Amino acid sequence: MSTTELDAYWMPFTANRQFKKAPRLLAQAQGMFYKTPEGREVLDGVAGLWCVNAGHARPKIVQAIADQAAEMDFAPPFQMGHPKAFELAERLVKLTPPELTKVFYTNSGSESVETALKMALAYHRARGEGSRTRLIGRERGYHGVNFGGISVGGIVANRKMFGHLLAGVDHIRHTHDPARNAFSVGQPAHGADLADDLERLVALHDASTIAAVIVEPVAGSTGVLIPPQGYLQRLREICDKHGILLIFDEVITGFGRTGQPFAAQTFGVTPDLMTVAKGLTNGCVPMGAVFAKQKIHDVFMNGPEHLIEFFHGYTYSAHPLACAAALATLDTYAEEGLLTRAGQLQGYFAEALHSLKGLPNVIDIRNIGLVGGVELAPRAGEPGKRAFDVFLDCWEQGLMIRTTGDTIALSPPLIIEREHIDRIVDTLRTAIGRVA
Ligand code: PMP
Repeated sequence: MSTTELDAYWMPFTANRQFKKAPRLLAQAQGMFYKTPEGREVLDGVAGLWCVNAGHARPKIVQAIADQAAEMDFAPPFQMGHPKAFELAERLVKLTPPELTKVFYTNSGSESVETALKMALAYHRARGEGSRTRLIGRERGYHGVNFGGISVGGIVANRKMFGHLLAGVDHIRHTHDPARNAFSVGQPAHGADLADDLERLVALHDASTIAAVIVEPVAGSTGVLIPPQGYLQRLREICDKHGILLIFDEVITGFGRTGQPFAAQTFGVTPDLMTVAKGLTNGCVPMGAVFAKQKIHDVFMNGPEHLIEFFHGYTYSAHPLACAAALATLDTYAEEGLLTRAGQLQGYFAEALHSLKGLPNVIDIRNIGLVGGVELAPRAGEPGKRAFDVFLDCWEQGLMIRTTGDTIALSPPLIIEREHIDRIVDTLRTAIGRVA
């Protein structure tokens, strides 16, 4: 494409000037691979953007979307419903921890986060505890880009340009602790105590002002931070002790990434609200959802029956194309055992990834299920540049990875075979060596 053809599109989360000098274009996708417009194959090491869990262009999903577009393109979700939205919810709650029995549809991870935060606030108000308005996030947390999400999020680059954010938000400390945990395989041994930071905020603000705590079970966008053993259990205990709702943002961990359908199951901790998106439709059609415990839903159901209980929703909530895509996605996951496949492959994946220990500048490696992070020492005065150079080298070699700061993140489609894992790690080895 010529420079003028690239001009009008202001790309999201992209270094636009750098990109437009040397664009990386994708034209086709099949299974584990993308193809460039010139026909060069690129192995997908990140499932698109942590979403194409069943691999690309799965026939059943493609067909379901086409059929649905012909049958019914759109149905309003306000005071109206359509059968596939109900069928999907029934099937979803069979996959979640049993206590999460209700599904509210959105169109993205960011919308799921806003929805969950609003549910938490409205829940406390509906049960007469309207003083609970404070939301607690975590440093280095990523919860999408809307105002609630960047407020509870803990990434300074996503916050500092936008002035005052939501009032009454505070953050617990993050769990990245390389001094104690570098090169841990799976969950790090040290750091359950970091959850006690929530007690500090309870002491500071008083529990009666706190509505909810939101964390990603595995922080993805800030460098693949695996929860230390016992950490999430401890957060759950502290929330229970003080009547605070616990929200898990499972936008990247949902749908098989950590070896179970949800990280809540992998780590054995059930949140009160859980946000998902991405893998819900295998990334084919935008869709997100919030799962809620029955007790949260029921609090809203006490008023007169003809009145709307929760004033929230989107024009495209439960979009028929998204519901059809999600149903076909769940079929594909079930038929191929994909929601537990990460657990079967995690030993092989971990061993391959940790073989990069000892390469120049590699200062930590982290993994769980089929998600991995390789952290590089930053170049002096150029944070993120070394990892970005590895990303560019991998692209030239025919591998798509993602970087966040100086961490290389991997989250391949769950259909991955061992030979793909070998290829990913070999490509990374070459790239890290060359960039050094
Ligand atoms: N929460 C988490 C944990 C995420 O990783 C993401 C996206 N990577 C989001 C929310 C936002 O999702 P979306 O980009 O679909 O709005």
